[in-house]
Amino acid sequence: MKIETMEDLFLEQIKDLYDAEQRLVKALRDMAEAATSPQLRQAIESHWKETKGHVDRLERIFNDLQTKPKGETCDAMKGLIEEGETIVSDTDASPLRDAGIIAAANRVEHYEIAAYGSARTFALTLGLSTAVSLLEQTLQEEKNADKKLTYFAESMINNEALKTSTAMRR
Ligand code: FE
Ligand code: ZN
Ligand code: FE
Repeated sequence: MKIETMEDLFLEQIKDLYDAEQRLVKALRDMAEAATSPQLRQAIESHWKETKGHVDRLERIFNDLQTKPKGETCDAMKGLIEEGETIVSDTDASPLRDAGIIAAANRVEHYEIAAYGSARTFALTLGLSTAVSLLEQTLQEEKNADKKLTYFAESMINNEALKTSTAMRR
């Protein structure tokens, strides 16, 4: 699709996010299953639930714009998810895998934070107040998810990964 106006650009961003979030609904479920720490698994599951809400919010934005919800392949999210899958398949079920899952999930959250930040700013410029508030809500949930993951890594999982993987090599 040729992008000629700010509205076109905004819609393109929303379509990209719609595809990205739909991919994530599936990927987060797999990531939660692959995690070994119950707290990490629970955190990913709760963000998985939020992610389904992110899809719903994007659908509300499409409806507001009187456009049918339609995704446009998000190559970046596809790649980020593939990287996460590689970490899972290259590790045994262990704290080391959990540390890798967090590193992959942090990359995903940062991508989303960047995308929602831009989309919200575009919506603000276009005077789309409903979209601004919906995008802002999701943006906050992405930021919280990112912080929670970082907290798990720093407060326990990275150290456990270090201890258990070193012990195994000796
Ligand atoms: Fe999301
Ligand atoms: Zn993308
Ligand atoms: Fe997210």
